Amino acid sequence: MSTLLEKPAVVERIERGERLGPLDGRALFDLDLLTLGRLAENMRWRMHPQNRVTFIKDRILNYTNVCITDCQFCAFYRRPRHPESYLVSNDEILDRIQQTVEMGGTQVLIQGGHHPNLKIDYYEELFRAIRARFPITIHALSAPEIDHIAKVSHLSIRETLERLRQAGLASLPGGGAEILVDRVREAISPKKIRANRWFEVHETVHEIGMKSTATMMFGVGETLDERIEHLDRVRALQDRTGGFRAFIPWSFTPYRSALESSDTPGGVDYLRTMAVARLYLDNVSNIDCGWLTEGRKLAQMALRFGANDLGGVLVGEKVIEATGVDFQMTVNHVLSMIRGAGFVPAQRDTTYAVLREYGPDEWE
Ligand code: SF4
Repeated sequence: MSTLLEKPAVVERIERGERLGPLDGRALFDLDLLTLGRLAENMRWRMHPQNRVTFIKDRILNYTNVCITDCQFCAFYRRPRHPESYLVSNDEILDRIQQTVEMGGTQVLIQGGHHPNLKIDYYEELFRAIRARFPITIHALSAPEIDHIAKVSHLSIRETLERLRQAGLASLPGGGAEILVDRVREAISPKKIRANRWFEVHETVHEIGMKSTATMMFGVGETLDERIEHLDRVRALQDRTGGFRAFIPWSFTPYRSALESSDTPGGVDYLRTMAVARLYLDNVSNIDCGWLTEGRKLAQMALRFGANDLGGVLVGEKVIEATGVDFQMTVNHVLSMIRGAGFVPAQRDTTYAVLREYGPDEWE
């Protein structure tokens, strides 16, 4: 029989530095919030002993909202020929990147829908045009977009990735993961790639010597066991390849999508999931928190629940904006948030290398 003072077994395992299994992961969700946060923060300090939180100056560019995949949770896409559908011209993309470079941005995150007519030559031309003009890192597309481009171009995943890398693609964001369990994927995005394919794309990215990130969008009808299954598979691939630079969990924003619901994750669920991710992913160095989906105040709290990075600051993002969420952020907001949480702010690049640490009185 346990007593009130007895420690849960999962806490003892963490304190002994043991790797957690799926049952441990599930048990973490039952800990009281502050105990869970303390454990995650301790692990964050072990992995990042500097008193520092990083961020990147980047631009999100959504080149098209045309998509034929009809995910139920998506408020962003429009079917081909819909009056609100768009494809941003290459000249417009280059102009936006010019502004990003002038503002000190070091990365452009390019993502869009599954456009039925854009084959690989479109992306090769775009990436080459960007790299010819700007010394900016192209962190672009996602596993489902790579799968789609491969299909419409009649190429293998490896050929697609090799050609895009030759054209200037530097790394692959972890988008399109949602919950990497097929029961959930079949319910919310039946036309999108299954979990095995998502992992196959990332494994191929890593095999050809590139890096990527992994994400999880939770609160779409999955169980807590399924969240752990998602984390477990990310950790297993990371054991094999070491190719994930970061993990980024965020909560589903339901507004204006076919999956609209009032039963959505709250702030406590977000902080719990953040902390569980930090503890379970013992081989992924960086955990980013998402101010874009969670708002500044909750993202700042997440820095005390295991996150060590705040993501990007120069936005022009349309996917989240389509849900009606419109959090804006400047570098000075980021500096203030990080200092307010008790850390030293530092600008990083796509590889998470620190470019500049900000002194206590430095602003932009
Ligand atoms: S989430 Fe992506 S793939 Fe799914 S409908 Fe939206 S744009 Fe298309």
